[in-house]
Formats: sequence, C-alpha cells, structure tokens
Amino acid sequence: MLLALIKISVTLMSSYDKEALKKFRLSGKILRKVREEIKKFVQEDMLMIDVCEKAEKLIRENGGKPAFPCNVSINEIAAHYTSPPNDNKRIPKKSLVKVDIGVHLDGYVTDTAVTICFNPEYRSLAETAKQALKTAIDNIRPEMSTSSLGAIIEKTIKSRGFKPISNLTGHQVGKYLVHAGTSIPNVSQLSFSKVKLGAVYALEPFVTLPDAVGRVENGEEATIFRFLRSKSTKDVYAKQLLKYIEENFRTLPFAERWLRGVVPPEYHKKAFQELLVCKAIMSYPIFVEISRKPVAQAEHTVLIVEDGCEVLT
Ligand code: MN
Ligand code: MN
Repeated sequence: MLLALIKISVTLMSSYDKEALKKFRLSGKILRKVREEIKKFVQEDMLMIDVCEKAEKLIRENGGKPAFPCNVSINEIAAHYTSPPNDNKRIPKKSLVKVDIGVHLDGYVTDTAVTICFNPEYRSLAETAKQALKTAIDNIRPEMSTSSLGAIIEKTIKSRGFKPISNLTGHQVGKYLVHAGTSIPNVSQLSFSKVKLGAVYALEPFVTLPDAVGRVENGEEATIFRFLRSKSTKDVYAKQLLKYIEENFRTLPFAERWLRGVVPPEYHKKAFQELLVCKAIMSYPIFVEISRKPVAQAEHTVLIVEDGCEVLT
C-alpha cells in the first residue's frame, strides 16, 4: 500500500549495513507469517475491522509493529481502505479482497499484499497479479531500468488477457518510509531511473479486466492518515493527539482506530478534525478503479543482490 500518484523525490540510501539488513529480513519474516495466517482467516461476511485488527495483532504478537494500517480493499477499490473506528462493513459475498499489510522493526519497513478471491469468475484475474509479480521477481536485476521492468510486468498481464493499472506503482522502501525514492511502474513508461544494488523495493502489480479504463482515481472516503508537521493548536486535546501521533507513528501512516483512548472520547472527533483542517496531519483517500471494474493485487518486498533479488516477504 501507500502508492503515490505523484512522485516524491527523496534520495534514499541504497545500501544498508549488516544490522539494518538483519532488521529488514526479520521484518519480512514476520510479515510472511502474518500474511499466511490472515489468508486462511478471511471469510465472506466477516467484519472488515476484525480482519484489520487480527492482522495488526498478529504483527505485534510476532514482535513487529504495523508499518501502516492493514488495508482491506474490496473489488473496484484498489487500495487504501482500512476500517475506521466502529466500522460495521463486512466482506461482501463473491468479492475480490486485497489484504495489504506492512511491518517495521526500528523503522525498517517491509510490505506485502495478497488477493483473496471469493468469486470463481475472478480467479484468473487474481492469478495474473501473482504471475506478474513472479515475473518481476524473476527479472529484476541491479542497474535494470525501471521502465523495462514495467514493460515486462505489462506484457505478462496483457498476454493473459488482462490490463495493468497504469497509475499505481511499486516503490522503494526505507527507514520509516513506506513510499519514497524510486517508483516501479506496472507498465512501460518513459523513465530514466534504475534499480539499485542493495536497495529494497516493494513490487506490486495491480490487474483489472481488459475492458476497464485501467486507472484509479481518488474516492470519497479516507481512513488512513499521516503526520505532516508540528502545529500549535488552541484545542488542548488536538495538541495531545498530535503529540501522541508524532511520537508513536512518526512519518508512518496510521488509522484513527489506533488513537482510541488518547483523549477523552467525547473530545476526540473535534480534536482529530482540527488536526486535519490545520494540516498537521494528512489523509490518504481510497483508490477506486475509474470504470468500477474489479482489481487484483500481489505484492512482495525484495532486496536487490548481485544476480537478482532476495524476496524478504
Ligand atoms: Mn502494500
Ligand atoms: Mn506497497
């Protein structure tokens, strides 16, 4: 998750010391275990908040911290939905469910996603996302241009009769950064950036039906947030909330659910709203496929080594 529609130019360190690599690997190992458990856990009609909270609890029980809220995105929603507080939405019958989760260990982020398919009609769509990811993993090499990697992903998807989402990309990850540095496109595009030896990337093809537009737009809802800047607010509870956010999540995304009990419940809503209005925090709207066609996704985080990559998740 946390795919930027606009590229952020941040120069990231592209090689890490032994300690950092150890943390990346352990972060990925925790995430892999949680993903496999959550795949078996998700069922039709289940409350979405139960999926989010189960995934986040498993991450903590295994010694990690969520790098961002667990995303549960249904059908035409490609990404960025997490349950708001007291969410009563359920996993619809016959739906295509993307569960996207992240772990950080002292800031070292890994990111993975899986599509759970409750509709036999979309099985091959979900399978194509997995195949596109596998092809990307098999082909990624140091010094490869990101545009040729995008072309390989696009070709795999189109050869199976489907369409990539062209404005969602994979991304480099870093310390306390889910999305920064280089983007990894899912289509061939003009770009001069290259895959770097020692860097860590999340690869994540998104696939939709051939008659879809194949792009996402921002939806109405936003349930994921991030700290932007310290601001002095008149509201004492807004101030308290912001302090908690800054100390606990730093530059990583968070859910409003995670703020339960920080300020008295009767003052929470107003304080939270004030932080949004004064731009101390920002929100990430959900991404919806423009023609409202179902979207499948598969994602792994990889470390670039001499002869290819090591899958961390
Ligand atoms: Mn993700
Ligand atoms: Mn990602």
